[in-house]
Amino acid sequence: MADTPYDVVVIGGGPGGYVCAIRAAQLGLKTACVEKRGALGGTCLNVGCIPSKTLLNASQRFAEAGHDLGRLGITLGKVGLDLAAMMGHKDKVVVDLTKGIEFLFKKNKVDYLAGTGTLSGPGAVALTDAAGRESELAAENIVIATGSDHMELPGVDIDEKRIVSSTGALALSRVPKHLLVVGGGYIGLELGSVWLRLGAKVSVVEFLERIVPGMDGEIANAFQRVLKKQGMQFRLSSKVTGAKRIKGGVSLSVEPAKGGASETVEADVVLVAVGRRPYTEGLGLDRAGVVLDEAGRVKVDERFRTNIAGIYAIGDVIPGPMLAHKAEEEGIAVAEILAGQSGHVNYETVPAIVYTWPEVAALGRTEEELKETGRDYEVGKFPFTANSRARCIADTEGFAKVLSDAKSDRILGAHIIGPDAGTLIHEVVVAMEFGASAEDLARTCHAHPTLNEAVKEAALAVEGRAIHI
Ligand code: FAD
Ligand code: NAD
Repeated sequence: MADTPYDVVVIGGGPGGYVCAIRAAQLGLKTACVEKRGALGGTCLNVGCIPSKTLLNASQRFAEAGHDLGRLGITLGKVGLDLAAMMGHKDKVVVDLTKGIEFLFKKNKVDYLAGTGTLSGPGAVALTDAAGRESELAAENIVIATGSDHMELPGVDIDEKRIVSSTGALALSRVPKHLLVVGGGYIGLELGSVWLRLGAKVSVVEFLERIVPGMDGEIANAFQRVLKKQGMQFRLSSKVTGAKRIKGGVSLSVEPAKGGASETVEADVVLVAVGRRPYTEGLGLDRAGVVLDEAGRVKVDERFRTNIAGIYAIGDVIPGPMLAHKAEEEGIAVAEILAGQSGHVNYETVPAIVYTWPEVAALGRTEEELKETGRDYEVGKFPFTANSRARCIADTEGFAKVLSDAKSDRILGAHIIGPDAGTLIHEVVVAMEFGASAEDLARTCHAHPTLNEAVKEAALAVEGRAIHI
């Protein structure tokens, strides 16, 4: 057992855990972060947000160079793909950023303990390093930040070569001829877009009758239309019920979601992207008596306390959207709570972004949710075809949509599909954080010519007074 107990031991060095550890140390708490991966940054930096956004950017530029620049009067010779170099760039970004967190730990005096952490008794964490050596840490408080892992699909066994999870799809050594994606959610559409742009045929099998469930329906329809125009193929209301390895690929059985005749589809690579599940293996939760919910997530109260005193949990391993920035906000909140402050997360203002092109951004309530709850609302929309900057950059796909309370005009949600939607949404995040009305947004001066003017015009449209349409 360590001589001086830590004030906080964080188990898991992803965006939830590492941010929590840094904030706790900033607040004067003696802090350690235990991570078993061999690198800090968790899913997000190693096999999630960062490598996927790096490939999304590189593949988008490849696609533009290949067939989009002509309309701007730029002609190029034959555009070539050096996939190994593209992957090398991605790997370097990952290593640089994960090393950067080690530097931040040193700067903030967080002890980085490489190894697997297990709850081993009240106020104790057993640490097993890569060589199997065991030691015990004493901790006043323990924060579980062990994140999530991909979900499996029965009958479709992932080998990370022919049948891959997102991790394998981020590291293919060749562009597949046909990539079949199971699941039309964030991962399927982002990584499907990467390989589509690099030359693969991409078809998506989605269980529901729509893509990106949980996002605003009108936006989802527009999103599917635009992806279809780019060449992505969709089989909605369908499920994959089995996969067989064949020479050079995989043969899959696809059926209607409701059941019915099965069809055989062949692909050389299959990406299984049907969601993620909380990761709690090997943590010793049972022995410690920590209660999970029906979905296997660690149950916490509004102060991130589990049912066991001194044990907290944050990030993908607890309920809520599985997003890096949500995990980070929770990490900061729990550190501040442990330091005697009143940490808090406003879940109403957590944006969600699909980083395809165009990007898709969602914030707050969708129209479907407002209808379901019987809330009276107003809607304002503005298309990028009517935005001058979008015209300048020849990126006019999509629209911005603002939803506000019919009586008070308070903004309830915003949804954008369009160029840089993921950046644009943040002005509405700030507005909502300050309890703004759609009129507040509409009366705020926006520089011309910017894409943000589409957001202002959507806010103006709530009262039927958009200028440019
Ligand atoms: P994680 O990042 O999963 O980190 C948990 C860490 O805990 C892991 O490193 C794991 O090794 C470690 N660990 C587990 N058990 C133990 C143990 N017993 N002892 C020691 N260490 C342990 N989100 C976004 O917001 N934006 C995006 O663009 C985005 N893109 C994504 C793309 C992909 C392909 C994927 C898979 C996910 C993406 N996400 C994105 C989701 C995002 O990665 C997660 O929401 C985020 O990483 C969750 O953070 P976390 O700290 O809760 O957990
Ligand atoms: P997801 O929940 O976004 O999408 C999964 C999709 O698979 C859903 O549309 C679901 O209906 C479908 N599905 C489920 N079972 C199926 C089946 N048997 N057959 C066909 N379709 C099926 O999950 P994901 O894409 O795996 O991503 C996991 C999580 O990771 C996301 O929910 C998100 O929280 C996070 N993530 C975020 C980003 C981002 O922020 N840009 C990117 C990637 C991942």
